Amino acid sequence: MLKLSRGLVDDMLAHCRSAYPKEACGLLAGSAQLGLAVELYRMSNVEDSPIGYSMDPKEQLRVDKQMRQKGQRLVAIYHSHTASPAYPSSVDVSLAISPEVSYVLVSLKDQAQPDIKSYHIDGTTVRPEEIAITP
Ligand SMILES: [Zn+2]
Repeated sequence: MLKLSRGLVDDMLAHCRSAYPKEACGLLAGSAQLGLAVELYRMSNVEDSPIGYSMDPKEQLRVDKQMRQKGQRLVAIYHSHTASPAYPSSVDVSLAISPEVSYVLVSLKDQAQPDIKSYHIDGTTVRPEEIAITP
């Protein structure tokens, strides 16, 4: 289960909306053991594309350092889909790095009703995960 606050959800949605119609991506950090995200890091999509994303390795190193300084662990990687459902694409699955990390998909296919889903990706197996939104 992935736990995150309403504030983080709103921040993530605002980020995805601001990048629309291109994909947005970012990281959620907190306690990996508890599956609890406490902070959101907006990342640049260097692919600058409506159908894919990739993060800047230098920016990733910088954020990784910030997380370590704050005693945080990477809990989830999020990105938006602007024309498809909140489900990992075959490319998303092939690029998944760890079964421990949650993959959060934000679909803006219906902009009035964004859909947010979380998954664990282990090899080619995609397992949906419950999201608990805390106050
Ligand atoms: Zn994707």
